[in-house]
Amino acid sequence: MEDLENLVKLQETDSLILSLKQKLEMIPAEIQKFDNLLQEADKKFEKEKNKLLELEKKKRDKEREIQDINEKIKKLKEKTSQIKTNKEYQALLKEIESVTEELKKEEENFLIILYELDDIKEKNDKIKIETEARKNEIEKKKKELEKEIIDITQQIEFLKENRKGIIKRLPPELYQEYIDLMKKHKGIAVTQVKNSVCQGCFLHIPPQLYVEIKLNQSIYHCPQCGRILYYRKEAEKEIQVQSE
Ligand SMILES: [Zn+2]
Repeated sequence: MEDLENLVKLQETDSLILSLKQKLEMIPAEIQKFDNLLQEADKKFEKEKNKLLELEKKKRDKEREIQDINEKIKKLKEKTSQIKTNKEYQALLKEIESVTEELKKEEENFLIILYELDDIKEKNDKIKIETEARKNEIEKKKKELEKEIIDITQQIEFLKENRKGIIKRLPPELYQEYIDLMKKHKGIAVTQVKNSVCQGCFLHIPPQLYVEIKLNQSIYHCPQCGRILYYRKEAEKEIQVQSE
């Protein structure tokens, strides 16, 4: 009876260790996911920043262009004093007029760039704040996961110590049988019988054997899967309540 209880405890401990190890194995991928999100946030911000830089360059180019046109107008106006014929004068006036038109057009274009620049700066500031908030949130989640790694590792260490204590109380041949069953059945060597059903392979246990298992006085095996079986009164009640 005590052996059976120890086997149940050992199974519970091993199942817990196994599920904690599985959880632990999944964390690095989760962290990687958060790292990718951080990179994405940075990239998005970079993209917006580049748009701003491009527009600033466009603004400088336009300024230079306008400066050149002004220069050109100034030179044309200087030429008027050297004009000799009316025809030449008319031609020069026409040229000045056309370059002035061009200047007007480019000054309008420059204004449009300034408006665009205002818009994009505003958008950039907003994105910067959003990106920082998002990054902080992601960093927080990452730290939680890193803490979880430490916590789970400690839990596993504790359970392993516990396990050692249980094994000491088990006869070696029984422990060996447990290990063999564990290997054969992917981690479940000891299982409950609920409402006459083996929870390892779902075989209906023959009535006579079920009566004996219910006494929990000896170690019984499932006739189909060979797992060690035990019975819990509460488990059966729980199922009955659920089915009512
Ligand atoms: Zn079974």
